[in-house]
Amino acid sequence: MTKSSFKRIDGRKSNELRPITAKVGIIPNADGSALFAFGNTIAIAAVYGPRQLHPQHKQNPTKAFLRCNYDLMSFSVSERKKPGPNRRAQEISKVTEWALAPVLDLDSFPGTVIDVQIYILQADAGTRTAGINAASMALAHAGIPMKDLVCSVAAGKQDKELIVDLTKEEEDFKEGEGATDFAIAKVANSDEYTLLQLDGKIQPNIVSDVLELVNGACKEIYEAQKKALKEVVKK
Ligand code: ADP
Repeated sequence: MTKSSFKRIDGRKSNELRPITAKVGIIPNADGSALFAFGNTIAIAAVYGPRQLHPQHKQNPTKAFLRCNYDLMSFSVSERKKPGPNRRAQEISKVTEWALAPVLDLDSFPGTVIDVQIYILQADAGTRTAGINAASMALAHAGIPMKDLVCSVAAGKQDKELIVDLTKEEEDFKEGEGATDFAIAKVANSDEYTLLQLDGKIQPNIVSDVLELVNGACKEIYEAQKKALKEVVKK
């Protein structure tokens, strides 16, 4: 198939994101909050802290503890999903912490905790990446010192074609070479990647092409995040 004749299931181009929605300040009682959506995948994030961590023995005297909690709401998917935490949510919470920590100045807040609550209100794949984008904006909104924003998106393959921001239907596409879901997060203005989580197969020689595709997508995500944050500053 030639590049020009390639069509995704929903008609997008291979490097085209779903429509982005980015808003900041959606939860007044939180120290920082944001909503980030890729099409039908909607994530909200609320930040509380830095505040003193209890119980005291969990405190780190040298830096703040970043505690992320990702939860996919049971009403976010059409299939039956038991409410509450599960192993998948625990794993996503952990990788989200790892994706965000490198941009945060945690050393300035010893003994404290920064809680980041991420809720997926509607899921159509890419929820961990939408959650990271929302959390990054919410942390900035909370005024936590950050060296940069983190931008995140998943890449994958449909047959041999590399594509970004997969829908659930694309993620489940198993013809040809099979489904590939490669969730990636990067520090916006550097080549530092803070999440590289591959589910499926990708040939090592095309990883650089994947990163190039994701870098382009992350530029768009960064612009949307910045625009939403600036709108709050203006008010
Ligand atoms: P991500 O959402 O980051 O792509 P996964 O690959 O684990 O993470 O999940 C892919 C998609 O599968 C989700 O976005 C959601 O649409 C769907 N999904 C995940 N968990 C469930 C569940 N328990 N019930 C129904 N659908 C789910």
